[in-house]
Amino acid sequence: MKTPVTVLGLGAMGTALARAFLAAGHPTTVWNRTPGRSRELDALGAVRAASAAEAVAAGPLVVVCLLDDSTVRATLEPLAADLTGRTLVNLTSSLPSQARALAEWAAGHGVDFLDGGIMAVPVLIGGPQAFILYSGSTAAFEQYASDLKAAARPAYVGKDPGMASLHDFTLLSAMYPMLGGAAHALALISGEDISPTAFTDDYLVPWLSAMLGQLPAMAKDLEHGPDGPAGSNLAMQANGFHELVDLAVEQGVDPAMIAPMEKLLQRAVSEGHGDEDLAALVPLLRGGA
Ligand code: NDP
Repeated sequence: MKTPVTVLGLGAMGTALARAFLAAGHPTTVWNRTPGRSRELDALGAVRAASAAEAVAAGPLVVVCLLDDSTVRATLEPLAADLTGRTLVNLTSSLPSQARALAEWAAGHGVDFLDGGIMAVPVLIGGPQAFILYSGSTAAFEQYASDLKAAARPAYVGKDPGMASLHDFTLLSAMYPMLGGAAHALALISGEDISPTAFTDDYLVPWLSAMLGQLPAMAKDLEHGPDGPAGSNLAMQANGFHELVDLAVEQGVDPAMIAPMEKLLQRAVSEGHGDEDLAALVPLLRGGA
């Protein structure tokens, strides 16, 4: 028999996780604060527990996916004794410090603990593009990785329970400005006789894909130092950037999304990095404002 799995939380993500465990043949017990959520799981064979404690008692592997850290703490703290001897996998988004504190709480109650960062939206769960970052107990990961694979490809990023969250939020921090930049670009053309779909397919995606291809070189420069003169030096970029802000104003678009980049480039130049490439921004940002 496959490992029984308990899923606490049937929001959009918890429901997708439960569905994936059921699809992979795991006996799956579910609980949600508001009863009756995600009725479609019943037909797939989910067992509905009347209480969170009853759900936890159903098996050795407890996956929790609630709104945030405070919700998790409020839900789990009364269940400490029920969780003892089981493995808790927290897939709720939380800060590294919160994951570490939850790990400490779990250890104090004899609960094996993994924190996870879900790199997917609900519709991708169970599919080939989804992956989930895990950190914390190596033994728990080794024991349950093959079960957790039902939800998404598991990637273990370290014993420190904060590492999954650090990786997760770092990846999101790169994603949001990119998508915000795309929204800014679409706003720039929105009053024009340009199809957003055609523009995106023909130009935006190929352009951003080509630029993403430059990231490994940037990381390499950062790790080993530049291996030649900058192809696109920061002085040149800072000099021209105001035109992007001017264009936004001309098109009646709020430049809030791109304006901080102009300030950052100007700062890099004023601090003597004008002849360097974008990798020079990394230590600058690390140094704080
Ligand atoms: P939803 O808003 O759909 O669901 C929230 C869940 O939290 C519900 O089960 C809700 O129960 C429960 N909840 C809220 N407050 C409490 C409380 N005080 N006590 C007990 N339960 C509570 O969120 P998602 O499912 O989308 O997200 C869940 C987690 O997954 C979040 O941390 C999110 O960051 C993370 N995540 C989500 C992704 C997504 O695309 N959806 C992507 C990656 C991570 P009730 O039904 O009773 O309100």
